Amino acid sequence: MNIPVNFDYAATTPVDPSVVSDMLPYFSINYGNPSSVHSLGQRAETALEVARSTCANLINTSNNEVIFTSCGTESDNLALRGCALFQRRQSGANEILTTPVEHHAVTRTAQQLQDLYGFELVYLPVDMYGMVDPSEVKKRISKKTTLVSVIYGNNEVGTINPIADIGRICRELEVPFHTDAVQAAAHLSMDMKRDNLNLISVGAHKMYGPKGVGLLGLNMLPGLLPSQTGGGQEFNYRAGTQNIPLIVGMAKAFSLAQEDIDNRNNELISLRDQLISGVLDQIPDAYLTGHPTLRLPNHASFVFSGIDGNRLLIYLDSKGFTCSSGSACKVGSSKPSDVLLSMGLTPELAIGSLRITLGKETTTDQINSLISALELSVQQLRQ
Ligand SMILES: *Cc1c(COP(=O)(O)O)cnc(C)c1O
Repeated sequence: MNIPVNFDYAATTPVDPSVVSDMLPYFSINYGNPSSVHSLGQRAETALEVARSTCANLINTSNNEVIFTSCGTESDNLALRGCALFQRRQSGANEILTTPVEHHAVTRTAQQLQDLYGFELVYLPVDMYGMVDPSEVKKRISKKTTLVSVIYGNNEVGTINPIADIGRICRELEVPFHTDAVQAAAHLSMDMKRDNLNLISVGAHKMYGPKGVGLLGLNMLPGLLPSQTGGGQEFNYRAGTQNIPLIVGMAKAFSLAQEDIDNRNNELISLRDQLISGVLDQIPDAYLTGHPTLRLPNHASFVFSGIDGNRLLIYLDSKGFTCSSGSACKVGSSKPSDVLLSMGLTPELAIGSLRITLGKETTTDQINSLISALELSVQQLRQ
C-alpha cells in the first residue's frame, strides 16, 4: 500500500519521537496521582509543575494561570462559558462579542450560551480575507460585553488577526479578551502580556504533540466559573485527575514548536509561496482565500470555480495526496463553509474550497507533484 503524502497538518500532526519518549515513563513507572501525598504522587506532581512552568513561560503568564484541559475545544468551552457566566454574575453584562470566522469550538459554544443561557451574540464583521478590523471592536464593545473572542490564526483560511491591537482596545475598556490560538501557537510566538490577552486556548496535537490535551492560559482575568466541577485540581478551574503523560508531552511539543521559530517559518513560507504561486499560475479560475501575506506560514487555501471541494479531495486522495476542504464537513454533505460566506464568497465558489497545509516533512518535490495532481484533478472534474 502506498502511504499518501500528507498535506493536512492543520488537521493534526504526528507526535514527535522525542515527545513520545518524554511521555513514556509517566504511563508505567511514574504513574502516580499528583494529588497523592506519598512519593509516587509527588513525582507526578513535580512533572506536572515543571510542565506547567514550561507552558507558562511560553505564553508569558504565571504558573498558577495555566489550566491543563483535555483539548483545544475544551479550552475554548471553558474560556467562553466560564468567562461569560462569571462576568454576568459580577456585573449583569449579557453580550458576547465574537466573529463569524471562529472554529466550531467557539461558535457552537457561543451559540449555546445564546440559546440556553440567554446571552446575546454580537458579531464583528470581517473583511474579504477573514480579518477583523480593531476599529470595529471599538465600535461594538460596551459595558454589556462579557468577553471578546477572536481567533488568532484561522484554521480554514490561514489569516492572522491583529490580536495585539484588539487586545489594547479590550484592555482600555476592561473587557476580558480571549483568543483561540490552537493553530497560531504551532507557528507564532505567543505572549499574553504583549498581546493584552486575558485568555488563550492552545492544543497539543496541531504542534507534534499528543491528542487529548490542551491548555487555557489566563492573565489578569477577573474570574472564571469552572465548567467541570469535582476535586480541586487545576486551581479549582478544571476538576479531574491530571493526565500527566499527555501534559508532559504537551509541554515538550510546545517547547519544540517555539524553538527557532524564525528559521523554520522562513522555510515554510518559501514552500507555501511556491505552492500558492504554482497553483494560481497553473490552474485556471483558482483563487487564494485568506490573506496573501498575513497568514500562517504553513497554510495555503483556495477555491476553484465549478468544482465540488469534497470530490476534489477524493480525486487527490486517489492520486496519493491528503488535503482538506478547510471546514469540518463530511463527505456527502457539500455545503459551503460559513467562514467563506462571511468573507463575501458566493456559495458556488465557496463549495470549491481546498486547504493545503505543510509540515516538517514537506519538500519542494512533494509540492511540485501535488500541483500537477491538482491541475489534473481540477481538469477531470470540470469535464
Ligand atoms: C483544531 C482546532 C481546535 C480544536 O482543538 P482540539 O484539540 O482538536 O479539540 C480549536 N480551534 C482551532 C483554531 C483549531 O484549529
